[in-house]
Amino acid sequence: MCQMTLDPAPPQTTARQSVTLLGMRVDRVTMEGALALAEEFIHSRMPHHIVTADASMVVTATQDAEFAQIVAASDLVTPDGAGILWATRRMGTPVPAKVSGVDLSARLIALSGEKGWRVFFFGAAPGVAEAAAVQMRERYPAANIVGVRDGFFKPEDEAGIVETIREAKTDILLVALGIPKQEKFIFRHKAALGVPVCIGVGGTLDVFSGTVKRAPVWMQNVGLEWLYRLAANPKKIHKVALLPKFAGMVLRAPRKA
Ligand code: UDP
Repeated sequence: MCQMTLDPAPPQTTARQSVTLLGMRVDRVTMEGALALAEEFIHSRMPHHIVTADASMVVTATQDAEFAQIVAASDLVTPDGAGILWATRRMGTPVPAKVSGVDLSARLIALSGEKGWRVFFFGAAPGVAEAAAVQMRERYPAANIVGVRDGFFKPEDEAGIVETIREAKTDILLVALGIPKQEKFIFRHKAALGVPVCIGVGGTLDVFSGTVKRAPVWMQNVGLEWLYRLAANPKKIHKVALLPKFAGMVLRAPRKA
């Protein structure tokens, strides 16, 4: 039965509270809290996996047991999107804020110069990661982007990609392959990569490069980003189709008293 409860923090990370939404853990974290944790992960030099959870991911986790386990084993699950905020409010255990992959990535890149953090962009169509790096260096001239690689590759290329990321002495790896491919890639190669902060960021490099425009802020705030994205790219219909399913599952789930 779907339910939401306050859970203790996972033991391997800084103490914090989580909620369970339709069986998936979402951490009660703010942007400042997520940035502090990322810094802690970098100082530890140990590999960590940050998941940015949106509504489609919660549904995917109910359908893909391997994926659900990967999310459960990750070091931080941020609430990425109005759908998650709505669902946790409705269930009686709200999370404090939206911490999206796009916003978290931008903040980390902004800090990368002064902190000396080495950022690698991996994913999206050929040319997009390069264009994203150009745009982000324009926005944050001190940005320390040390490598880029597109996200279209054969299984036999994976070992070489891992080696390239490792050789770049990457501190922060943005993996933009879409859900659940990016989380599975990170889980599979976490130890070999040895990167302290690996984040699955979906369409973030498309947004940074200007290939895809973000919805206006008012649409993001009222939870209509999905509609904007669908209008911009009708191929995303399979993803959008998960949203009514998510809403139905949340509405049927028992609320905390
Ligand atoms: N992508 C990729 N390799 C693949 C499949 C997808 O690099 O094999 C990229 C795609 O070009 C896009 C991103 O992954 O940049 C997925 O973006 P989307 O907004 O669909 O992500 P999601 O909604 O799954 O987080």
